[in-house]
Amino acid sequence: MPLVLVILGRQGSGKGTQASLLSERYGVIHISTGDMLRTAVAAGTELGLRAKAVMDAGDLVGDDIMIGIVDERLAAADIGAHGVLLDGFPRTTAQADALAQILGGTGPDLAINLDVPIAEVTERMLARGRADDTEEAIARRLELYEAETAPLLAWFEDRGCLSVIDGLGTEDEVFARLNKAIDAL
Ligand code: AMP
Repeated sequence: MPLVLVILGRQGSGKGTQASLLSERYGVIHISTGDMLRTAVAAGTELGLRAKAVMDAGDLVGDDIMIGIVDERLAAADIGAHGVLLDGFPRTTAQADALAQILGGTGPDLAINLDVPIAEVTERMLARGRADDTEEAIARRLELYEAETAPLLAWFEDRGCLSVIDGLGTEDEVFARLNKAIDAL
């Protein structure tokens, strides 16, 4: 399997933008589970109908559903050929365990935590004005991030693949830091 990367970070940390830049530079396929879900919602599929209320409330879609979606996507030939950058998955340790199983018992090559403080991401999210970015939903997502996703950092650290990158600064500055971490692999 070619390069397997995971990017973690609070909503509003800039991880989506950086993930797109990274997938271009390293030739890996960018998979955003948030984008996959939003596409399903827009298309009105069964998955979309189930996910919409959960997403609007800022809650997490169930592990079984998410693991099923990612398992199926990672089995596609393009991933085996080009590698992958997972953005928004795993979000829980159950999802991380499932990912390790999908990868044949190992963690990713690198899990990047794009670190931006809570006050800064809240300001950025309110400024971008997305439909699901109400103040309640933002607060709920950040609370969930701390509760569910922060333990993931320990999960990756235990497997020796965690890299914490300062997400403050310009897009170029942050991208340069990310390149340095990945090129060191
Ligand atoms: P994102 O674009 O990554 O911020 O995701 C938007 C929303 O989709 C989240 O607030 C969750 O409701 C849902 N979501 C995306 N990825 C996952 C995941 N791995 N596990 C559970 N819910 C997810």
